[in-house]
Amino acid sequence: MVIAVLALQGDFAEHEKKLIECGAECFEIRQLKDLERDFDGLVLPGGESTVIGKLLRELDLLETLKAKINNGLPVLATCAGMILLAKSIDSGETPHLATMDIAVKRNAFGRQLGSFHTAAEMKNIGNVPMTFIRAPYITECHGAEILADIDGKIVAAQQGNQIALAFHPELDECNRIYEYFLRIC
Ligand code: GLN
Repeated sequence: MVIAVLALQGDFAEHEKKLIECGAECFEIRQLKDLERDFDGLVLPGGESTVIGKLLRELDLLETLKAKINNGLPVLATCAGMILLAKSIDSGETPHLATMDIAVKRNAFGRQLGSFHTAAEMKNIGNVPMTFIRAPYITECHGAEILADIDGKIVAAQQGNQIALAFHPELDECNRIYEYFLRIC
């Protein structure tokens, strides 16, 4: 199983560690020629969605990745990665990959609760730890299935091959979300 990890900005290295722990092989996508390799799944890490979105365009990666996801490539997107997948961003920003039927609100938990740790039940997976860092949440979830919420705020959703998480599974001990993703791959 070969998983590509978008490595333009953010915490991609922590995802690679987790994927290797779960028995996958991974490589980094930094430029267009990296997309010539065959791979079974894609991870879009957390970071700053405006920066990653800008680099996706500048490096000419956006359209190819979008087509691959629309053609069924499994993708695990966390935090800024979730914002990249969303068809709508609350602040009126131009969407990026826009492959998933969700609307997201950026930095949505407010200043006081900008970063926090909790645990919650996730559909198909069970109770998992969740670390939030200046996280978005999903405000509308049309074509996607809700996997988890915190006090009514949607923090995980899946639409076929696409899994979007507002939190950072790469920062916790639990590997079950990666195992679930690898089964989809
Ligand atoms: N606040 C970031 C954004 O809006 C996301 C934060 C993260 O990925 N931890 O892009």
